[in-house]
Amino acid sequence: MAPIYCVPLDGFPLKILHEIGSELGRTFHAPVHFLPEVDTTEQSYDHSRGQHNSSSILVMLNSIIPTDHARIIGITTADLFIPIFTFVFGEAQIDGPAAVVSGQRLTNEYYGMEANNLIYYERLLKECTHELGHTYGLRHCLSDGCVMRKSTYVEDIDFKTSEFCPECRTYMEAK
Ligand SMILES: [Zn+2]
Ligand SMILES: [Zn+2]
Repeated sequence: MAPIYCVPLDGFPLKILHEIGSELGRTFHAPVHFLPEVDTTEQSYDHSRGQHNSSSILVMLNSIIPTDHARIIGITTADLFIPIFTFVFGEAQIDGPAAVVSGQRLTNEYYGMEANNLIYYERLLKECTHELGHTYGLRHCLSDGCVMRKSTYVEDIDFKTSEFCPECRTYMEAK
């Protein structure tokens, strides 16, 4: 499998990025490399919404991808949107190289609850696995617990696992 490049965006903590990155490497059976931090404000910040346009970040990630056939995932602390939605947890190019995930709405604190690092980490891992899954061509899956289930609310993320269902796994193994 071609490498996966992980990029910290907008001050995303490197320690968590490294932990998530090595887990993604195991899941996708790919070598993982880490790129230097990028500040996306100039490319993607929308002043009227106070959020970052995730599609603009995907364009930026495409421009820094080091090798052919690789995948690239940016993880940010900034809140993301695409114009038709209030917010998105992340966005990816189906069968394309780039994905982006935001940690902002994945913390308990965001919802006024007590901080829990383990829950935050699990949500982040699920969303990164989900968005990277899209870059390998996987679509949304209806199987209970499959990481490729669509997540609209954080409860949807908690409801699913960080694993592929047998059907999605078979698809990934044929890659
Ligand atoms: Zn999705
Ligand atoms: Zn599935």
